[in-house]
Amino acid sequence: MFFHKVFLAIQHQGPRHGNSHEAEPAVPIDRAGPIDHTVPAMKLNIDHHVHTRYSNCCNEDYGLKEIIEAQNANGMSYVCVSDHIHTARDTGGLEDHHRALATLPSSYKELPVYLGVEMTFTSPEGDIPVDPGALPAPPSFTIGGCHHFPWDKDLTMGDVPGGRAKLARMTEQGLTELLLQHHRLLQGAVQKARIDILAHPFDFFFRLGIFDARLLDMFHDTVRLCKKHRVAIEVNNASARRCDAEEKKNTPFNSQCIAPKKFFSALITMAMEEKVPLSPASDAHARNDIGCFDSLLPYLEEAGAGPGDFLRLDSLDTFSKSV
Ligand SMILES: [Zn+2]
Ligand SMILES: [Zn+2]
Repeated sequence: MFFHKVFLAIQHQGPRHGNSHEAEPAVPIDRAGPIDHTVPAMKLNIDHHVHTRYSNCCNEDYGLKEIIEAQNANGMSYVCVSDHIHTARDTGGLEDHHRALATLPSSYKELPVYLGVEMTFTSPEGDIPVDPGALPAPPSFTIGGCHHFPWDKDLTMGDVPGGRAKLARMTEQGLTELLLQHHRLLQGAVQKARIDILAHPFDFFFRLGIFDARLLDMFHDTVRLCKKHRVAIEVNNASARRCDAEEKKNTPFNSQCIAPKKFFSALITMAMEEKVPLSPASDAHARNDIGCFDSLLPYLEEAGAGPGDFLRLDSLDTFSKSV
């Protein structure tokens, strides 16, 4: 069983004043009080995307215990973990996380803990490797993301086989077809509704330095499907960091590309305009990145994100679905 719930996910660090403003939510939300957009500094208090040693790409050896410690120190309102499931053989470390949670002292259980997974899309139709309900320890929530193109093993997120060079050699027609294939993948993934959160949209392309405006045009349809199928759209700090770095490089891949920061801002705005919940993600692969939103916050502030714009997992009564 999976679930969604949106409500206030932002705490302002400064003092509050009058002039409250709340965006109209997509679904019923718990109103946690007014928020003042005249106070510029904000602090997100939820983080749905954190890796541990059970993800091969994790840069450090830490587990659930260290995440709980970090998120307590960060003043988060609950704790999440979301290790990778790339193939049907992976389990996302869920059984071990459950075991760790059961054996931790009670002081570690003051915050609710949600044990989720990040599934990789494994087919051009946006399938995921394994039915979440069939895992030995079913996850509390499921993130789904594109980490490689299932139809082309050379095109991977890490650009290991030289995907950018391959893309640069593509004809215009070939590149257009690739963008359409990726679009169909995302649409399939959302329509199947096996995921709760669409992870780091277009980060695959960001890593290859591609900020093609046609991706944004296509994304409108995906956002509308997310709304229909109640799939939240992730706002990922690592993606924001990448966009900032690419902006500095100023090396557009082709004439269709727009500025990286403009691209990322447009993604956020598009989701907010359709009232699809945003899902905050540090996508931490190292201790220091847990709960860190340093690059993301300026984008959220600029977009005017506020109460009702964010997915939360700690209230389950009004936005539920089962898969
Ligand atoms: Zn990912
Ligand atoms: Zn991740």
